[in-house]
Amino acid sequence: MLSKYKYEGFSNFKIKHSEVLKFIDSQKNKFEIIELGKSIENREIFALKTGKGLIKILLWSQMHGNEPVSTMALIDLLNFLSSDENKAKELLQKLEIIAIPMLNPDGAENFERRNAISVDLNRDAKKLISPESKILNRATEDFSPDFGFNLHDQEAYYGIEGGSSPTMMSFLSPAFNKECNIDNNRKITMQVIAGINIMLRKEFSNIVTARYSDAFMPNAFGDFIQSKGIKTILFEGGYIIGDINRQQIRVLYSNSLLFALQSITNKQYEKYTVEDYDNIPQNIKLKFTDLILKNVSLLKGDKKFYVDIAIRKKITNSEVFSDTINEYIIDDIGDMSYKNAFKIIDCKNKSVKINSKDIKRLANADELLKLFKIKL
Ligand SMILES: [Zn+2]
Repeated sequence: MLSKYKYEGFSNFKIKHSEVLKFIDSQKNKFEIIELGKSIENREIFALKTGKGLIKILLWSQMHGNEPVSTMALIDLLNFLSSDENKAKELLQKLEIIAIPMLNPDGAENFERRNAISVDLNRDAKKLISPESKILNRATEDFSPDFGFNLHDQEAYYGIEGGSSPTMMSFLSPAFNKECNIDNNRKITMQVIAGINIMLRKEFSNIVTARYSDAFMPNAFGDFIQSKGIKTILFEGGYIIGDINRQQIRVLYSNSLLFALQSITNKQYEKYTVEDYDNIPQNIKLKFTDLILKNVSLLKGDKKFYVDIAIRKKITNSEVFSDTINEYIIDDIGDMSYKNAFKIIDCKNKSVKINSKDIKRLANADELLKLFKIKL
């Protein structure tokens, strides 16, 4: 639906602040542009405002600098909203929208999760150490939205039980207290998420969606903003095998945002229940791995065992995109039927035998890959 409005101005997926500014500049006649403040390294953080409706929506993306698909999807949505489409005009009759694309421009510049003083903005909702956190907090106070959309990307290795693909989109209705109670506001966010999930499944085939567990994190922005009575939804863009730059995910992401806005506008979410939300599969960290070698002959003295070996990139620093990591480690050894992989090789008929002293969990996997003549 939204692919027609994909913004074509990004040179590659590691988008920079200057490119966001260029988009904002091109939209000066379509949106009210508000400078909210500056990042630590003096990059301007802008909000784009549009719509005359009574329901107020605040969306912010990329508080983690290495999560650019959230910003690309948000900008595609804005590109649609500023179009002449009747569907866009209908939304803007009912909604007032403020969007903050790229809340962490300093992190984005270096493609890092944290900001210029290495603070994770999503753990800074209480203390507000960083100017970027203060900007978001002030935006929630000044604009006082009915809904808050907290937009992120996640690692490629997330999956669901029995899923044939990694998680493509995941969602969370954050808890507002440690008991994880469900009040009316939180219930509505669950209904909205359930609706997005059903729309995604209807519009796209073979979709894998998930929901995060809701352990309360008071210093995370989603939880904090939800606790202020703003109906808050976390979106996380995931991965499709082979879609390294995540441009297919970008399409699912922008459509998820559009479904959410439409559902809120026409109150379609009322059709769905908390149970529908609970039925979305749980998002499981490291459910996927890059490679599983099945039935590898493993020697220990004169004994021989058949084990599966899972191998993945060595993620050490919250890398959401692992394109620059070339080191592989042994993720796990044993029965790997609980995991799935981007690539699976059955070694039953291979003559290669591994000595048990040569493999250890979390050790470098280069030698092993060389022995099997596998290039990842
Ligand atoms: Zn994030």
